[in-house]
Amino acid sequence: MDRIPEVAVVGAGIVGLCTAYALVERGASVRVYESGVPGHGQSGGQSRIFRHAHDDSRLVAFTREGRAVWDEWADRLGAELVSPDGVVALGGAVPDRLRILREAGGIPARPVDGTELRARMPLLADYQGPAMLDEGGGAIRTRTAIERLTGALGDRVVTDEVISVHPTGQGTVEVLSAAGRAQYATAVVCAGLGTARLARGVGLSLPVRPAAHVRLTFRVRGTPPERVACLQDSSGHFGETGVYAAPYPGNDRYAVGLSQTVGVREDGSFVDPGELVALNDRARAYVSRALPGLDPEPVEYLHCWVTSLPWSEDGMAVWEAEGIFFAAGHNLFKQAPRLGRALAGAATGEGLEEDLRPAAKLGRPR
Ligand SMILES: Cc1cc2nc3c(=O)[nH]c(=O)nc-3n(C[C@H](O)[C@H](O)[C@H](O)COP(=O)(O)OP(=O)(O)OC[C@H]3O[C@@H](n4cnc5c(N)ncnc54)[C@H](O)[C@@H]3O)c2cc1C
Repeated sequence: MDRIPEVAVVGAGIVGLCTAYALVERGASVRVYESGVPGHGQSGGQSRIFRHAHDDSRLVAFTREGRAVWDEWADRLGAELVSPDGVVALGGAVPDRLRILREAGGIPARPVDGTELRARMPLLADYQGPAMLDEGGGAIRTRTAIERLTGALGDRVVTDEVISVHPTGQGTVEVLSAAGRAQYATAVVCAGLGTARLARGVGLSLPVRPAAHVRLTFRVRGTPPERVACLQDSSGHFGETGVYAAPYPGNDRYAVGLSQTVGVREDGSFVDPGELVALNDRARAYVSRALPGLDPEPVEYLHCWVTSLPWSEDGMAVWEAEGIFFAAGHNLFKQAPRLGRALAGAATGEGLEEDLRPAAKLGRPR
């Protein structure tokens, strides 16, 4: 009979894949259950921003450690996983953000003037307000990361839907899936939108807020710039205060979204789908005003779910019940390798890091 792996991971989004990869690093045996295609959920689409700036110094430190893990894995997996072109942030929050980054130490971030801003972000219209550059940030090569991790995990990733994860009462965990039933020493649930439902099965009520989101992709006019930074614009200078944007590999396309989301009912149905269309129109209008380097006709739409925790849009936490771990939060792409290592440590008996416990409210502005 085949030996059952020690750890079950539910979900092959970026968090589940990183957790499984980190478990393999530790020599643990693992099976990853994925009901669809790896990386098709909230981890879908090209490009995400890796930025160090957060409103919680603990999260800044966590992110700095995570940057090093991205580099280590990029070397091992033989591919660029984060672009070297940085992140520029605009707006009145810049001095505060720089202060928190300086206090954390070891993060190459600094103010930039209009001339350097134009060089780093040549797609942007004229802007003279407060701006900073996070040189250690960049665009995450999301598809490459998903593909390389999935490839490295090989047949540890199985196509199967998990129906329930529960303790057996004998120190093990049972996973019931569409195609079977198996026992593990422990399980880590990284199921994105599906995490709260599976947690409810063991009596945990996660305060996850599901919402819907849209991000648009635009073609860069003319020859793509050799270097282009990601953008976070909270300035209001171009009529919006919560804009994020990142280049695709090759810099010929640029994805732009408003950080605002549209609330949905508990069963996932929309109160008003028109709100999502309105967000889409605002993003297009923003591009016309702020990013003359882009053709303002979108070439791609990414409609997706977002699962935030109530204390911050960057908040994350891990709930634990009888040897089962449930990870939740938003803006987790950048955090996934570091979070994956923490989850792998917890699943192999090291205990969960204090900052990741729900009571710590990691990410809450402070
Ligand atoms: C448009 C957009 C822009 C974003 N921008 C950024 C950014 O710039 N920087 C950043 O860091 N983050 C960003 N994020 C957030 C980030 O992408 C997500 O936080 C991250 O991808 C979540 O990964 P995950 O693995 O937790 O979830 P998911 O990617 O959703 O993975 C969960 C997986 O679990 C599977 N699953 C669910 N239930 C079951 C089940 N019962 N059985 C088996 N499999 C199951 C699903 O099929 C899915 O593949 C953005 C998100 C969106 C949508």
